[in-house]
Amino acid sequence: MLSQEKLLEDGKLHIFLVGSGGPFNNEKRVASSIAVIANGEFILFDVGPGTYRNVDLMRLPVARLSCIFLTHFHSDHIGDLGEANMMSWTSGRSKSLEVYGPKGVDKVVNGFKMAYEFDTGYRIAHHGEEIVPSEAGVPISKTITIQDHNEKELCFDRNGVKIYAFEVDHSPVNPAVGYRIEYEGLVVAITGDTIKTDNLVKHCTNADILFSEAISFDLLNNMITLAEKLNPRVAKILTDIQNYHMNPVSAAKLAKEAQVKKLVFVHITPPLLNKNVETIYLKGISDVFDGEVILGEDRMKFILEPN
Ligand SMILES: [Zn+2]
Ligand SMILES: [Zn+2]
Repeated sequence: MLSQEKLLEDGKLHIFLVGSGGPFNNEKRVASSIAVIANGEFILFDVGPGTYRNVDLMRLPVARLSCIFLTHFHSDHIGDLGEANMMSWTSGRSKSLEVYGPKGVDKVVNGFKMAYEFDTGYRIAHHGEEIVPSEAGVPISKTITIQDHNEKELCFDRNGVKIYAFEVDHSPVNPAVGYRIEYEGLVVAITGDTIKTDNLVKHCTNADILFSEAISFDLLNNMITLAEKLNPRVAKILTDIQNYHMNPVSAAKLAKEAQVKKLVFVHITPPLLNKNVETIYLKGISDVFDGEVILGEDRMKFILEPN
C-alpha cells in the first residue's frame, strides 16, 4: 500500500492518535504519540515505545517526516525515537530529523545517536549514499527555552503551521512542556504529562481538540488495595504516580475552563481492558464538561478543515 502522501497536500489539518496509552503495557494501547499533518508538514509529538509500528501501519508519509517534538523524557514518551529516525531515513527522508524538546533534549538525542551508530554505518555501507544519505541519518536536537514561565513560546513556524510550547507541572520531572498547534485558525492542544494548572488552562484555551492525559485514581486505588499485600513495590509506584498526573475529572475541568470543543483522553492509565472499566474511567466527566468527549484509541483519525 502507498503511503498517505496526499494528506500533506490537501490543505486540511490531519491528526492521528498514534498511541493512546501510558507506561503500562497492554494489548489495546501503546504509549504516547500523536501525529499532525498539514500543508507539507508531518510532525510527531512524543514517540513512546511501540508507537512507530503504528505510524507505519497507518501508512503515514514517513519519508516526509519533518520533525519530532518531545514533551519530556520519561521512557513512555521517547522509547521509539531511534526507530522513528532510522525507519523514516531508510524510507527516503532526505534531510536530518529535527528533534525538539525542553532542556536536556540534546543528551537524549545524542544517546539514541550513539546507540544507533553501528546500524547507521551498516546501512550506508550496504545500500550506498544515494539510497541512504549519511547526513540525513543523524538526528539534530533543538532545545526549547521558554523565556517567560507563564507565556507560550513559538518554536516552529513553517507553511502556516505554528507550534508553541508552554510549561506544565509534572514535578518532580522538570522540565516538561505541553504544545499548542495553530494552523489556519484551527487549534490543537496537547497537555503532555501534567497536573492541572492555570497555565495549562490558559494555553489550551479555545482548542478545537484537546488531547489530555488522564490516569484514573479510582482504578489505581483499587489496584493499590490488592497490591499492598501481594506486591508493595507496585503499590508504592501506583501511589506515587498520582501526584504528577490528572485524573479524568480534572482533565474534564480543564476542558471546561479552557472552553475547548472536543476532549480526547490519552495516556490512558491503567489499561482499560473492558467496558466496565471504561465506565469507571469516565465516571463524572459529563457532570463537568458538556462538549464532545472521546476515549482515545490507537490509530484514531481526526480531520479539521480551515474555514
Ligand atoms: Zn511522564
Ligand atoms: Zn507518561
